[in-house]
Amino acid sequence: MTSACTVCRLHAESTFRIEGMDCHEEVVALERRFRNLPGLEDFAADVMGQRLHVKYDAARLTTSAIADAVGGLGMRAWLEHEEPIGIDRRPERLRQSLVWASGAAIAAGLALEWTGGPPSIARVLFVAAVAAGAPITAWRALHAVRSRALDINVLMLAAATGAALLGQWAEAAAVVFLFGVAHTLETRTLERARLAIGALLDLTPAEALVRGAGGDRRVGIDQVAIGDLIVVRPGEKVPLDGRVVAGSSSVNQAPITGESMPVDKAAGDEVFAGTVNGHGALDVEVTRRRRDTTLARIIHLVERAQAQRAPAQALVERFARVYTPAMLALALAVALAPPLVAGAAWPTWIYRALVLLVISCPCALVISTPVSIVAALAGAARKGVLIKGGVYLERTGEVRCVAFDKTGTLTRGTPELVDIVPLDGAAPEAIVAMAAAIETRSTHPIARAILKHASAASIPPARGERVTSFGGLGAEGLVDGAPVLLGNHRLFEERKLCSPRVHDALDRIGARGLTPVLVARDGVTLGVIAVADRARASGRDAIDLLRRQGVEAIVMLTGDNARAAKTIADELGVDEVRAELLPQDKQAVVQELRGRFGAVAMVGDGVNDAPALATADVGIAMGVAGSDAALETADIALMADELLKLPYAFRLSRKTVRNIKANLTISLVMKAAFVAAAIMGVATLWMAVLADTGASVVVIANALRLIRAD
Ligand code: ADP
Ligand code: MG
Repeated sequence: MTSACTVCRLHAESTFRIEGMDCHEEVVALERRFRNLPGLEDFAADVMGQRLHVKYDAARLTTSAIADAVGGLGMRAWLEHEEPIGIDRRPERLRQSLVWASGAAIAAGLALEWTGGPPSIARVLFVAAVAAGAPITAWRALHAVRSRALDINVLMLAAATGAALLGQWAEAAAVVFLFGVAHTLETRTLERARLAIGALLDLTPAEALVRGAGGDRRVGIDQVAIGDLIVVRPGEKVPLDGRVVAGSSSVNQAPITGESMPVDKAAGDEVFAGTVNGHGALDVEVTRRRRDTTLARIIHLVERAQAQRAPAQALVERFARVYTPAMLALALAVALAPPLVAGAAWPTWIYRALVLLVISCPCALVISTPVSIVAALAGAARKGVLIKGGVYLERTGEVRCVAFDKTGTLTRGTPELVDIVPLDGAAPEAIVAMAAAIETRSTHPIARAILKHASAASIPPARGERVTSFGGLGAEGLVDGAPVLLGNHRLFEERKLCSPRVHDALDRIGARGLTPVLVARDGVTLGVIAVADRARASGRDAIDLLRRQGVEAIVMLTGDNARAAKTIADELGVDEVRAELLPQDKQAVVQELRGRFGAVAMVGDGVNDAPALATADVGIAMGVAGSDAALETADIALMADELLKLPYAFRLSRKTVRNIKANLTISLVMKAAFVAAAIMGVATLWMAVLADTGASVVVIANALRLIRAD
């Protein structure tokens, strides 16, 4: 494709809903079909969501051509945002009634056999049962064969045909009927799974109450514009993201953040679509349209995550690719070898080979992994933990070392000003006024502490101009025309603004475990402001729980000074502290930890710590509701500012890995048992069909438990 002009290609992406994509086999068929579809660049199939994400060159391929290609495989495709033109339920109903007719014929046949009725009539009934049940399977098998796939329909048809040729009409009928029932059961189970998972994320009301000149009126939320004023009455769901302009209430944000406690909201606060208003009415100015709300983003990200293949899934699929051919080869050997080599009876061994055919479909095996992962991802999203794909779920289970950013992650991120140490007789108020002038331009937690103190003590901030901030160090600007610098010790050493008296003050502040903020004007250090941030209440528990999950080392990374960091670290039981780091140093430390411990998770706020988060094997951002950048960059995003979500994520990841293993064991043991039983001649065809379906259903049910895992 290198010869094609990359500029004039029209890259496009579309998402289709696919009806009839229920198993891995359909995905394999799609893969095969798409390989010779010119212009198709990439695709990801999500069997659970019945969705297909396609990347293509719109100059060479249209969405309707893609839909046609899918249609040619016996499935139906339509663009996600377009409703299908009336789903036709008739084929499904016809299929159902044919299956039941076939069942009735079998029952009649069996009854006749048992009561000693004429065998010829019983046989006619069995033949009728096959005739009723087989056409649909045959039709599907035809599609599969046309796309050169050996799917379950082909295998079942082969088994039934074989049984009929052996004169075992009752068996042939049983295979056809039970397979029909099995198919229905499996489709229903998957559909229930889809509903359970989809329901978790479908949370916004369809209308909003918009305040206008002519009074309040209900408007579809698609018609609401940014800047519109909406009213959220007590007990109602917030329809769109916005900012509160009047009223106060407590809002249950659990649907977005998973927080158990309602959050107080008053003028100026952000509210999110999908959350539930408490006792007070709120006037909200809409800040985001429906497609951009935090909830919409979450849903989008979860869907994207669910469409990705986790490593375990890829492994199982690779296994499935050799499993089916291997079983077919075995079946052939079983049919041919004993009669040819040892002169055994042909019908006996052909029958045994047919049983092997039935169990050579890897569906239970292949469906189990994606169902586990999709269920886990959906359950986590509901608890405010957004995991960007099965990969991270699997990787989190391997993490041995967790690195935490200090400020705002292990601490509350709302430091308070506790002391002002003037040097050379400067007035404390003047120091605060100068600092506040610079900090009005900053969003750092320390800046907020200083501004809060200034306003509480009614110190009018001076006017700051041309402020530049130095990440991890401090900031600088002009106050009333004079250059003012503020920040940590490292910054002041670099600028050669330290003196024995400065060091003396720093020592005293450091000894108290406080964070010093030095302030200088015109190249003279005027004083030190001491701020203190408190450890989060849940920090200790979260760290203890992480250790119980098998995490060996907890490391704190911070730009703050070593002593203040140590005070917090000791309180929380952190093993190792790395202080006075610049943002890029944090990245280097994460790299070093990976060398020492293998998989490392980094927990930070996702904005300042983005490089370190990206370097870690699993980057976890905390408190990201409302911050799109953090939501996008993290591998795992905790919507709420709640440390205890962290051990939950680790627990879930281990549970998911265990769940997948259990499911694989169930299906593999079942298959192995049937291989043995088939060769020994104790398994019948109908037992094999039942066991195969049973395994699928058990495995799906087991996987779905992950939705409610906590
Ligand atoms: P952390 O690694 O703990 O999240 P940062 O990297 O954000 O901290 O900042 C490291 C240090 O840099 C702070 O402890 C503080 O001393 C100094 N600093 C950074 N920005 C500012 C600011 N705006 N005002 C005062 N000090 C600052
Ligand atoms: Mg920070």
